[in-house]
Amino acid sequence: MTAQLIDGKAIAAKVRDEAKAQVAAFTQQHGRAPGLDVVLVGDDPASQVYVRNKERDSVQVGMRGTVHRLPADSSQAKLLALVAQLNADAAVDGILVQMPLPKQIDAETVIATIDPGKDVDGLTPVNAGLLCLGRPGLVPCTPMGCMRLLDEVGCNPAGKRAVVVGRSTLVGKPIAQLLLARHATVTIAHSRTADLAKVCAEADILVAAVGKEALVRGEWVKPGAVVIDVGINRGADGKLHGDVEFEGAKQRASWITPVPGGVGPMTIAMLLMNTVTAAKARIAVKR
Ligand code: NAD
Repeated sequence: MTAQLIDGKAIAAKVRDEAKAQVAAFTQQHGRAPGLDVVLVGDDPASQVYVRNKERDSVQVGMRGTVHRLPADSSQAKLLALVAQLNADAAVDGILVQMPLPKQIDAETVIATIDPGKDVDGLTPVNAGLLCLGRPGLVPCTPMGCMRLLDEVGCNPAGKRAVVVGRSTLVGKPIAQLLLARHATVTIAHSRTADLAKVCAEADILVAAVGKEALVRGEWVKPGAVVIDVGINRGADGKLHGDVEFEGAKQRASWITPVPGGVGPMTIAMLLMNTVTAAKARIAVKR
């Protein structure tokens, strides 16, 4: 078997078109565009690229996108004051504080102060709790993107065995929650999992979110499985690679995401969707 590729670029373009249509409808109805405010502290080169892309893509779908840049030596108090200001600003629908933050700032403290209704990264304790309870809230963008990829290839998680490798707050845990909410039987594997090969071999849906190139070997993939590779690793060849050994896995899976061009493009597309969702929900609460 040779797997079909899940084209994240094309699916992300479709999601952006949907966001654009929803932004146009919102703007017409409410006389203002939804607004996304991104906060960048410091000058980490990768983060600078990420925030520029977020600003660019939000403007492309008709939203207001603003980046607030603070110097690397900013105090936690200064950042908290900016978040408080954005929380209070009625024109701000989505707030995203770009990670990582400089070491003098405690990320958890900052995230916890973001208004949960504007938390388009879905990282506040309130939104994480709502996800665990299976109640509506804002869900982290990359996990939501993974679910959309499954839907787009007609993979219904109900009744399937899903294995998520990685248990981070940002990726692994929320993906597992989303799969559970869609009635998959979910196993979360992590750095202390015994016999990872055996666990992965049980998966009808295998999600890798670790950050270690080719950790998941091709021969671990159950024939016919759908493989979602979240990992982004710069290889010795200078190119980007996933957490799954792609060539081997491709011989066994039914569908597989390439890296790059799989999960990656979905993240910003889902961020745009989350911002529109947040804007609509805030208007509904005001009524
Ligand atoms: P993280 O470092 O916070 O978490 C990694 C997880 O992997 C941990 O839970 C750890 O237990 C697990 N792990 C580590 N070694 C392991 C091993 N040998 N066996 C099994 N599990 C192991 O990372 P993260 O933020 O969850 O990101 C994971 C990867 O996904 C990274 O490569 C990151 O760059 C990528 N990522 C991609 C996107 C995207 O848009 N495509 C978004 C976020 C993260």
